[in-house]
Amino acid sequence: MKTSIRIVLVNTTHPGNIGAAARAMKNMGLARLCLVQPQGFPCAEATARASGADDVLANAVVCQSLEQALAGCRFVVGTSARSRRISWPVENPRQCAVRLLQESKQGEVALVFGREHSGLTNEELEKCHYLVHIPSNPDFSSLNLAAAVQVLSYELMMAQTGRSAQPEEDARELVPAEEMESFFGHLEQTLLELEFLNAHQPRKLMRRLRRLFNRARLDKTEVNILRGILAAAQGRKFYKKTGR
Ligand code: SAH
Repeated sequence: MKTSIRIVLVNTTHPGNIGAAARAMKNMGLARLCLVQPQGFPCAEATARASGADDVLANAVVCQSLEQALAGCRFVVGTSARSRRISWPVENPRQCAVRLLQESKQGEVALVFGREHSGLTNEELEKCHYLVHIPSNPDFSSLNLAAAVQVLSYELMMAQTGRSAQPEEDARELVPAEEMESFFGHLEQTLLELEFLNAHQPRKLMRRLRRLFNRARLDKTEVNILRGILAAAQGRKFYKKTGR
């Protein structure tokens, strides 16, 4: 079905979960699996649990970092079994699937799943535009990784069949993940130089700014304007696209 949707599993500990996730994906018509530093993969247990979704496993891309796994993506959704200190925009699986599908018509999108024991780190969540939380028992909210992949893949399939209302299309040329990272690096550097950001207490400010700019869904022209402003604030007269 959708080749522009990739499922990213970060640092998975149990190869069985990778196989079960591949099976869940194939059941729901998804094929693109990215594994960020999986532990013990490839593995017979993964193949056994894939029960016929061997092609999804065979085509899985193994990456060394989440950045690498998200290269070229215009839209990234992270999954979370719990709420965080600074809240990120959170959607339910149904809303999220509709949005992912819509975004996937314009370009590459990713749905990111965390580690079995500790989920995604705050740094990893910061790379996401939205978070999705599968409603569950508040006292026992953490699903098995492959079960979470199953629920979200199912919602993607339901959204595909057109049973959910479609939001407005966004035809702008949004910047891919790596350009947003480069912009955030430039922003942080500038704020440090201006001494607006305190190097000893840096975390919260950058997180809030990331949330703000990710929510805005910046396009290429907007990023160029912002980077021009940053360069001007750094005291450079002319901002060149290539140089920082
Ligand atoms: N102890 C971890 C749980 C990780 S469960 C934590 O508190 O974060 C492993 C992965 O399964 C999660 O990172 C997420 O990708 C997915 N997952 C589990 N339960 C989920 C839920 N209720 N909603 C969305 N994703 C969930």
